Amino acid sequence: MNQVVHIPTVPADAGEKVNLLDFDRQGLRDFFTQIGEKPYRAEQVMKWIYHHLESDFGKMTDVGKALRAKLEATCYVGPPKTLFDKGAADGTHKWLLGMDGGNAIEAVYIPEPTRGTLCVSSQVGCGLNCQFCSTATQGFNRNLSTAEVIGQMWVAAKYLGNITHQNRRITNVVMMGMGEPLLNFDNVVKAMSLMRDDLGFGLASKRVTLSTAGLVPMIDKLSEAIDVSLAVSLHAANDELRTELVPLNKRYPIAELTEACQRWIARKPRTSITFEYTLMKGVNDQPEHARQLIRFMRKLPTCKVNLIPFNPFPGTRFERSDADTIRAFQTQLLNAGILTMLRRTRGDDIDAACGQLKGQVLDRTRRQAEFLKRLDQGAVHAG
Ligand code: SF4
Repeated sequence: MNQVVHIPTVPADAGEKVNLLDFDRQGLRDFFTQIGEKPYRAEQVMKWIYHHLESDFGKMTDVGKALRAKLEATCYVGPPKTLFDKGAADGTHKWLLGMDGGNAIEAVYIPEPTRGTLCVSSQVGCGLNCQFCSTATQGFNRNLSTAEVIGQMWVAAKYLGNITHQNRRITNVVMMGMGEPLLNFDNVVKAMSLMRDDLGFGLASKRVTLSTAGLVPMIDKLSEAIDVSLAVSLHAANDELRTELVPLNKRYPIAELTEACQRWIARKPRTSITFEYTLMKGVNDQPEHARQLIRFMRKLPTCKVNLIPFNPFPGTRFERSDADTIRAFQTQLLNAGILTMLRRTRGDDIDAACGQLKGQVLDRTRRQAEFLKRLDQGAVHAG
């Protein structure tokens, strides 16, 4: 299935108008005050935007006519534009969303029997250069705005027929797509507050997860800013190998990362941290690597490991570990009492597994032509 969804996006007359998706609840209240309206009106409009997924002020029937006219004149609800979307046989769905300047990002929905997870991007490209990541190959382009982050969820929710507080299709969000979310701190925190807000998408803190490569000072800052869950892309538990795979480790080595995670747990005693570990053949999947990981996890006893079979992409030097090695690695951890999950590979026919979202930073014409070609070949990689 390959289909274009026609959703409203930035209107032709947007000009100096303000995109309401850029505001969290307080920001929206402030904006309404600025335009001479009572702040509680902002909350009425918020419900229309996030519960009814309505972008047309004319259809916000319990909002007075005069206010509707004022809103039309001063602002708009502008989610990113869907360039393409594609579904996999297992229900996984991927959207290619257009950004300004010919950029594009991807968001991926992964349904499971008891939940539906949306993987969301935070930047166009990424500058952290993790060696096993296809996003890294395109370098860093720019941070996404709040509207572009929450807009990914808005687009997916609209497509999926998600009804906040009633028929949730999106039960979990992971900030695990393109980019390092802690390097786009303010916009990401605002967007996550909209995911959490009862007048927004109303998700519980354990259902909104930010995944970081390990920006130690920002982990502390995040713990003070908002109540969400944390995942850390670990991928190796010795400094030499981790620095090779995740160059950020040179700046914030494993000992410092461990302490930051211990501080996180101390501040949020009832929470856990998930350590993502992508298994690459002959690189980090041997018994000695499992032993190192066990030693690391002993310092964080309430935390868990998520093993991810590597998802190969064109040009990578890495390969996925074979099934027996993956099973043996998991068993070694489980036998040591480490809570260890194995992520099932999903959306193979659209290459939609998390961790490798790859948008395009090509000019529009070239990008569209290439993307279409690659879609046909089933070779577009996503995170
Ligand atoms: S794994 Fe994440 S942090 Fe590392 S380069 Fe890829 S997108 Fe950036």
